[in-house]
Amino acid sequence: MFEASKLLLVDDEPLLLKSLHAILLPHGYEVETASSGRRALERLHQQRFDLVLLDLGMPDISGYEILDFVAGSRSDTSVIVVSGDSSINSAIRALRSGADDFLRKPYEPEEMLHTVSRALAKRKLVKENEIMSKQLHQSEKWHRYLVNNSPDLIYTLDHNGNFTFLNDTVETLLGYRKDDLLGKHYSTIVHEDDLPNANFVVNERRTGDRAARNVELRLKASDHAAHPYEVRSLTIELNAMGIYEEGEPPDIPKRFVGTYGIAKDISARKKAEEMINYQAFHDLLTGLPNRVLFKDRLRLAIAQAKRNNQKFAVMFLDLDRFKVVNDTLGHVVGDELLLSVGARLRHCLREGDTLARLGGDEFTLLLPQILAATDAAVIAKKIIEALERPFQIDGNELFATVSIGVAMYPDDGETIDSLIKNADIAMYNTKAHGRNNFQFYVPSMNVLFSEHLSLENKMRKALERNEFVILYQPQINIATNRIVGMEALLRWQHPTRGLLPPAEFIGLAEETGLIVSIGTWVLQTACAQMRSWREAGIALDRIAVNLSPQQLEQSNFVDSVLAITSQCSFGNYLELEITESAIMKDVENAITKLKVLGSAGVKIAIDDFGTGYSSLSYLKKFPIHSVKIDQSFVHDITKEGDISIVRAIVAMAKGLRLNVVAEGVETEHQLASLRALACDEMQGFLFSYPLTVIEATKLLKQDSSISLAG
Ligand code: C2E
Ligand code: MG
Ligand code: MG
Repeated sequence: MFEASKLLLVDDEPLLLKSLHAILLPHGYEVETASSGRRALERLHQQRFDLVLLDLGMPDISGYEILDFVAGSRSDTSVIVVSGDSSINSAIRALRSGADDFLRKPYEPEEMLHTVSRALAKRKLVKENEIMSKQLHQSEKWHRYLVNNSPDLIYTLDHNGNFTFLNDTVETLLGYRKDDLLGKHYSTIVHEDDLPNANFVVNERRTGDRAARNVELRLKASDHAAHPYEVRSLTIELNAMGIYEEGEPPDIPKRFVGTYGIAKDISARKKAEEMINYQAFHDLLTGLPNRVLFKDRLRLAIAQAKRNNQKFAVMFLDLDRFKVVNDTLGHVVGDELLLSVGARLRHCLREGDTLARLGGDEFTLLLPQILAATDAAVIAKKIIEALERPFQIDGNELFATVSIGVAMYPDDGETIDSLIKNADIAMYNTKAHGRNNFQFYVPSMNVLFSEHLSLENKMRKALERNEFVILYQPQINIATNRIVGMEALLRWQHPTRGLLPPAEFIGLAEETGLIVSIGTWVLQTACAQMRSWREAGIALDRIAVNLSPQQLEQSNFVDSVLAITSQCSFGNYLELEITESAIMKDVENAITKLKVLGSAGVKIAIDDFGTGYSSLSYLKKFPIHSVKIDQSFVHDITKEGDISIVRAIVAMAKGLRLNVVAEGVETEHQLASLRALACDEMQGFLFSYPLTVIEATKLLKQDSSISLAG
């Protein structure tokens, strides 16, 4: 709403005052009058006026004093001095004292009106200006606040590239004092390596779409920042543009005055990116390159060797029986072992070699500086030697031998995949020939390898296809000639290769871990067979089942055996055959497990006795029922040396009240010798080959009519 301007008319002459009032009132002003200086001051104290028309010469208080009051009161009241004094001096003095205008008496009414409206208009302008500058000031304050509190570094440069402005962020981000940088060239804070990139970007001249956008650079942090010995650098993303003087007139080209730029700290993002990058190319456990990075290095090596007509070596390494460590001691210990192995392997290498972990216990090694196969052999030997010392991990003394296969470029392959594959094939060959060694790839290995692969694949399916069979071989009491037990012996009815004996597939089953489920199947099937024999009224005392060391190592081994025996509702008829080496692998573990089984009635026999540690003293610690003398001694029992070994074993076993079984008895002569030595039981072709269920059942049914020769 429009507000009328308030006017105060001051004059000691009532007539003049009256006529002035009369002139102004019709023009929409709110007009008051004061007939003396004192009265005027009173009114000014009481109220705010927009404009005072002031007579200078008054008897009580002079106009100057009132002017002083108005000026001093810091009010925004305008004053027009109206005076009869015609001297120029009084006009100047009045204006100096703060009057806005001067009007001489006598005046024309139009002149008066004009002067008043001009003074009011001017006053309005001044007021508007004041508000505007206040707003400007405020907004500048806000901008400054925003600029200085921005997480981004904001700067301006002059046309020479020297800093003319920097926000406070430069101090927190880079550790410089603002004043130290102002006037300095921008290159002071750019990382040396990035200077070529920084030029023409940090001091960008272009504007609009062509100006520098999201350019990545590194800035140097101040030397006197927290870490004096490391040059800390910060990765930033820069946006900059040229600043130009507003051209006047508009058609002449604008003058370049400098650059305005914003640098965003993207170190955290960079670190995250680097981490992701690292993870994509490294094995997280060992920190070694992974398959992707290895292949990349191999690609480079091939390119280089091709150019220089050189050779180089690729090795494939696989830890021997690592699975056992993982299964028995847990993944934490397994991981620790892998880490330690990785560390030792690294020691065998030279700069430029790449050791990678492909996963599990598989490592690959690229040796680009190897020029001849003989050099590769030296390194392979070095690696095998380096792993000879045991590892101390979590209170365990662990051995980790390795099987190595070597492929040479270009003889054994010219591509990434063929080199890795052939090194792998050579490695597999090392495994097949006793492990803890190395072999160079030769093409004939392919046959063995592909057989191995297909055998493995077929074996994985054999269980569900019911291709496994159990044969039973009788165990005879030598004194009574009666069958006291049956040993379950596994066969694989292979789809194309016929009936395979354990020697052909047990090794692979152990290597792949399949032995655990196969072994469980044997236990279940043999126990079920024993139960049906007993239910058929056959007086058989024992079913003997062979165990692989890996089965014993399973943490749920005891439970799974007990589950099977309780299913068949017998424990006392089962005898587990274990070799000495299986027990010795982890004696404490074996004792605990076998004791639990022993107390449930399960018997334990030591298989192939005499070929391993052959110390009966440790056997005292185990809940053992029988020892089975290895067939090699029985076979050569006619030889003087061997008969004394058998004699010693029988004597020791008797001392410990153990049942002694002789394996592999083929001849009458062998049987006679064993009888003479008072061996308890025997097993062998002399009495019977391993039999099918039907054959075995038939034999058991007529057992009573059997008599042994001799
Ligand atoms: P083992 O437990 O020592 O079994 C005795 C081996 O000697 C059997 O060979 C048997 O057929 C053979 N044999 C028996 N009598 C005579 C004889 O008079 N002369 C000769 N020369 N050999 C005789 P087989 O069945 O080939 O088994 C070989 C090995 O495979 C077994 O040795 C045993 O260690 C392992 N095995 C067999 N079945 C299983 C099984 O179910 N699980 C596991 N883990 N291993 C098994
Ligand atoms: Mg056996
Ligand atoms: Mg044996």
